[in-house]
Amino acid sequence: MYKSVDQFMDYVIAKNPGENEFHQAVREVISSIWNFLQDNQHYLHNNILERIVEPERVITFRVSWRDDQGKINVNRGFRIQFNSAIGPYKGGLRFHSSVNLGILKFLAFEQIFKNSLTTLPMGGGKGGSDFDPKGKSDNEIMSFCQSFMSELYRHIGSNTDIPAGDIGVGGREIGYLFGQYKKITNRFLGVLTGKGINWGGSLIRPEATGYGAVYFAQEMLNTKKLNFSNKKVLISGSGNVAQYAAEKVIQLGGKVLSMSDSSGTVYDKDGIDNKKLSWIMNLKNVKRGRIKEFAQEYNVDYLEGEKPWGIKCDIAIPCATQNEIDEDDASTLIKNGCICMVEGANMPNNSDAAELFNDKILFGPGKAANAGGVAVSGLEMSQNSMRINWSSQEVDAKLNDIMKNIHNQCVEHGRNGDRIDYIQGANISGFIKVADAMLDQGCV
Ligand code: NDP
Repeated sequence: MYKSVDQFMDYVIAKNPGENEFHQAVREVISSIWNFLQDNQHYLHNNILERIVEPERVITFRVSWRDDQGKINVNRGFRIQFNSAIGPYKGGLRFHSSVNLGILKFLAFEQIFKNSLTTLPMGGGKGGSDFDPKGKSDNEIMSFCQSFMSELYRHIGSNTDIPAGDIGVGGREIGYLFGQYKKITNRFLGVLTGKGINWGGSLIRPEATGYGAVYFAQEMLNTKKLNFSNKKVLISGSGNVAQYAAEKVIQLGGKVLSMSDSSGTVYDKDGIDNKKLSWIMNLKNVKRGRIKEFAQEYNVDYLEGEKPWGIKCDIAIPCATQNEIDEDDASTLIKNGCICMVEGANMPNNSDAAELFNDKILFGPGKAANAGGVAVSGLEMSQNSMRINWSSQEVDAKLNDIMKNIHNQCVEHGRNGDRIDYIQGANISGFIKVADAMLDQGCV
């Protein structure tokens, strides 16, 4: 049996060489549940630790597709079916040039605990490709998605594995993927979530991750008798999660000072209001342009190549990608008066930054704070199975309840005197349900 977190991590690193993001995610979970495990030795005696860090199945495949010039291109496709103890695999697909096995394993591993926290019956999975959608025509995106699904379809199913969107995979891509799945199988099934509203999608699914992160932040602020009203908020990213986090912050009376993309940050001192936000949504979702164009249109500051973390704020909601905040950024944010850090993205803080925030200010880790997206995906699956559609109000109310419930679970397992350790709370709560199901199901 392992005597320390470091000893266990030596095993994980030796078995999964070079997968740095995966090591980072495993270390965070294992460190925060280590003391709990010492008090609950039956998990260790049944070797749950070695079992939970080993994916049940990893699928990689070739994706060949033709571009507009007729040239054949080749990318690599992946699906990580990590853990199905509490339900079919569930987790998004990411299309981004940085995608590799280690990144998808980190995301799938996080997804196990996140899905458990939602209280819905969903296991953990993730997939994607190193395909870069930037600058590709609609036709090229369709060609890629069709080729990707021509292999993926044999591994997924509404009771097996139900992918959704993530970076680079939004409504357009889900449409092309679903169309190809239906063509190959001749079945109209709820095999993907994030579908269009006219063909099996759920209201509020596009909004769910961003709204959910802000609902979670609101619960955290409540513990200090604070709220969003007049708070200065930094948001990074300008994709799906960022857009709807911004929309909800504005609704709750907060002032959104920044949004960004991988080229730079816009800093709007007056605050991005609803009108400006719909301009950004059109820019990003229809014109597929760069955030710099917003700065030109509204004559606000543009910080080329920079992230937003040097701007003074009360609340920060990173919604772009992993490891976008390091220890220096974290120190600057805290020094400048930030009281609450909420992870809209998955693992946007590196380990040192997360530790610093968790010690000093309210810190909402991604697996709790951004679980609203997969939670509403779970509600989309329920609606598909029952062949009914809930109204926006119904779905939004359920989302709000789920986020409150996740917050309560974090408090239950993370309270430490006056302080709530949300990392510990989320990891222990998420772990117990999955590990108990694994024990019940025997050595499989
Ligand atoms: P989108 O593709 O819609 O948007 C991603 C945004 O982040 C874009 O503005 C993009 O800019 C920026 N970005 C991506 N990679 C980088 C990078 N390496 N450096 C700087 N900026 C970058 O993705 P989502 O909004 O769906 O996802 C954002 C985050 O939220 C991810 O971490 C994802 O895993 C997480 N998440 C998403 C959920 C969902 O429901 N969609 C659910 C839970 C978590 P550019 O266009 O220049 O690349």
